[in-house]
Amino acid sequence: MAKHATPKLDQLESGPWPSFVSDIKQEAEMRAKNPKGLDYQIPVDCPEDLLGVLELSYNEGETHWKHGGIVGVFGYGGGVIGRYCDQPEMFPGVAHFHTVRVNQPAGKFYTSEYLRKLCDIWDLRGSGLTNMHGSTGDIVLLGTTTPQLEEIFWELTHDLETDLGGSGSNLRTPAACMGESRCEYACYDSQQMCYDLTQEYQDELHRPAFPYKFKFKFDACPNGCVASIARSDFSVIGTWKDSIKIDQDAVAEYVAGKIAPNAGAHSGRDWGKFDIEAEVVNRCPSKALSWDGSKLSVNAKDCVRCMHCINTMPKAVRIGDERGASILVGAKAPILDGAQMGSLLVPFIEAKDPWDEVKEVIENIWDWWMEEGKNRERVGETIKRLSLQKLLEVTNTAPQPQHVVEPRSNPYIFFKEEEVPGGWDRDITEYRKRHQR
Ligand code: SF4
Repeated sequence: MAKHATPKLDQLESGPWPSFVSDIKQEAEMRAKNPKGLDYQIPVDCPEDLLGVLELSYNEGETHWKHGGIVGVFGYGGGVIGRYCDQPEMFPGVAHFHTVRVNQPAGKFYTSEYLRKLCDIWDLRGSGLTNMHGSTGDIVLLGTTTPQLEEIFWELTHDLETDLGGSGSNLRTPAACMGESRCEYACYDSQQMCYDLTQEYQDELHRPAFPYKFKFKFDACPNGCVASIARSDFSVIGTWKDSIKIDQDAVAEYVAGKIAPNAGAHSGRDWGKFDIEAEVVNRCPSKALSWDGSKLSVNAKDCVRCMHCINTMPKAVRIGDERGASILVGAKAPILDGAQMGSLLVPFIEAKDPWDEVKEVIENIWDWWMEEGKNRERVGETIKRLSLQKLLEVTNTAPQPQHVVEPRSNPYIFFKEEEVPGGWDRDITEYRKRHQR
């Protein structure tokens, strides 16, 4: 019989989707049976007490978790999030319920042996409950006690040769899409860049010294499988300089219905017979495509690399050959100032090992933000407060048309007098002459 009655949580099992409540109940049952005969190092009823405390929160409309001070492992300033229950007498199994963040491999490739070992550690020393993956990308191990932390850290680093992730005001665990390992759209090796920068910035990852959190994410193409443009302070997105490549024979096969659009994936809407004008040309956001009944053409200057035509007809349209990446800065979730997407800082960079150009941009941003950023201010908020122009100055980036957010109504970039040849006076006189004022 269940230790706590949980009528509200039970309702969450009734929908058509997988339920975390069912998962926790399954874990509680498994621990009660203990088929492997484990000598559990934390209270065996911890999943049941987790359900109990959650039901109590639903009944009372308030959380029963409190931050009870800093916990962690020796030498690291992040990677463990201290969690304590404020009702330890009622729910002793979750009196301590710390979260451990584990640095996931680039592209999230695992062997089953690795996953088994990870679960063995967590069955023995934690609640057995995991979150694969947390929103930063890490493997999140939910619920353990303070005395287990050093043991877990030792086993992760020695048996699995893996590391803790980031938490607090430091560099968070960098995340990358699978990139060139499997994806034909990859414009640079996002996994290699992620790995290299993770190694390079170990200090920043493990020893909090920033005003607030800082996230790197690496998308190898504009499809953005790790959503770096929305979810990272420093986002690297693969792109190309030249034109998309069109194979007219393959286009004809799509039009004749010989190849299924969207690689056969169903988008949830039945479009009927493939219609290249309705499904591709008219949906190009910058009207860069045209179709004369037999040939698909592109005006490369107008293409904004949205990937729509490529995703719809992957056998006929391909990314360009001059590949690299764009760097965007300042995305964040809505904690203080509202959600913000990244602003374009470097339109095109040759994304090549050893990534020196990228590192230079990163370090210039950090130097400036650590000097000017307020406590708990994300770099995107510092940019908003002190201007994108300031960011361009500190990163030695020349203003470019791509930095203009709304041409004419909001120039975004303000020129200084010394930047105008002949100064303001000459400029205004010439303007008046031209416009006969
Ligand atoms: Fe148009 Fe997007 Fe295709 Fe470029 S990638 S041509 S913007 S649909």
